[in-house]
Amino acid sequence: MPFDYAPAPESRSIVDIESNYGLFIGGSFSEPTSGEFFKTINPATEEVLSEVAEAGQADVDAAVAAARRAYDKTWSKMSGKDRAKYIFRIARLIQERSRELAVLETLDNGKPIRESRDADLPLVAAHFFYHAGWADKLEFAGYGPDPKSLGVAAQVIPWNFPLLMLAWKVAPALACGNTVVLKPAETTPLTALAFADICQQAGLPPGVVNIITGAGETGRMLVEHPDVDKVAFTGSTEVGKAIQRAVAGTKKKLSLELGGKAANIVFDDAPIDQAIEGIVNGIYFNQGHVCCAGSRLLLQESFADEALASLKRRLTTLRLGDPLDKNTDIGAINSSTQLSKIEELTASGEAEGAERWSPTCAIPDTGFWFPPTVFTNVTQAHRIAREEIFGPVLSVLTFRTPEEAVAKANNTPFGLSAGIWTEKGSRILWMANQMRAGIVWANTFNRFDPTSPFGGFKESGFGREGGVQGLGAYLNVEDPS
Ligand code: NDP
Repeated sequence: MPFDYAPAPESRSIVDIESNYGLFIGGSFSEPTSGEFFKTINPATEEVLSEVAEAGQADVDAAVAAARRAYDKTWSKMSGKDRAKYIFRIARLIQERSRELAVLETLDNGKPIRESRDADLPLVAAHFFYHAGWADKLEFAGYGPDPKSLGVAAQVIPWNFPLLMLAWKVAPALACGNTVVLKPAETTPLTALAFADICQQAGLPPGVVNIITGAGETGRMLVEHPDVDKVAFTGSTEVGKAIQRAVAGTKKKLSLELGGKAANIVFDDAPIDQAIEGIVNGIYFNQGHVCCAGSRLLLQESFADEALASLKRRLTTLRLGDPLDKNTDIGAINSSTQLSKIEELTASGEAEGAERWSPTCAIPDTGFWFPPTVFTNVTQAHRIAREEIFGPVLSVLTFRTPEEAVAKANNTPFGLSAGIWTEKGSRILWMANQMRAGIVWANTFNRFDPTSPFGGFKESGFGREGGVQGLGAYLNVEDPS
């Protein structure tokens, strides 16, 4: 049983949410031409937080035109050193406002404040600092003596790490000399709108960053806009494929960061306590709304029972509840749609013969919640072993030899990440070479750093974000990945 903590809620008074938000186009907020607004809610309470503008075709046209003007007249003509000053300024403002942004992210997304405060926000600032450092050094990045920007970047991001995905996209685009039109996800627009305010505060020239809110249709209009030079998308494989079809035959440069079904492979010589923490972090961090989540646990058969017993013991200590409480480990599921998807897939797991287990935990009466869940008796044919659940649900399989672990780990249409837990360095290197995954963690999981490239193979997409490799996605050069 968890220790009986006293509640320690973070105050939300630091956040000032307006009753409605317009579109951030050309450096200022404007009403949508449609006059339509949609609600964004707190998924932990279902409270309406604000109403947000729905951008239509005329608004998308205006945003792309503003980005084009800013590119032609200002940003592409500015020296890297001057661009860096703006990006450094943005990074510092994010640090200064990080508590406010963390609370806002938790309210709109449902993730625990512990994660938005200690993981998302430090990484957001780090991405801007890192890329600000590149802006005046692009000739040393390995892309030739004078690499050129692309022009206007259309960027569409998901709801699982709203501000972090914005940072992964906006920071390299600006550092490389491009201007941006970004569409955040329908359920999590508020931190992107706060970022618009930060752009104003930083004195960023009007039109360099434009934020348009709306649903999937707004995203479609943006990526299909003929005056866009670059499309960057993070989200589902299904929408990624639709975008790839729409962009095919145009001159637009494309990067896609899509789903995953990562194997977290634990050998019987692994340090068990660290491995259990790594398994928990791998799948229950951010309610499992993580594209690189370690959603398939591969346990070496010789110690599977012992490892499962430790894992279950650890899961009984996780605290599910108010995301603003600093003790909370598992927050709210981001939307009722996502909750239904998790419920449907977990029901299929039981129907197909897998065994479900969750610790006893009280589920709040309002909002969207799903307890941490473990499935055993899972076969590779089960849907819960093949499809991305995007929730706090772990499917456990076993293996006997390293070869069998590799075969099972690679038996997926995805190829984003993998984890290996063993004390043998040679085995780590051998396994990492066999993994068909863009990122392989050894004796750790879910470690992110702006200097390290992130991206996938196969149906997990292509192109890299972060590191020197990620710059190539925003320069007029051959994509390095
Ligand atoms: P989507 O792929 O639909 O959403 C990602 C972003 O794309 C959102 O901003 C969305 O807008 C936008 N979008 C939707 N349709 C289009 C389109 N035709 N053209 C351009 N942009 C579009 O993901 P969902 O939110 O629907 O989640 C569904 C599943 O996708 C999840 O259950 C999960 O399995 C997976 N997923 C994977 C992510 C990852 O990081 N790999 C991230 C998010 C989801 P809007 O939000 O308004 O619909």
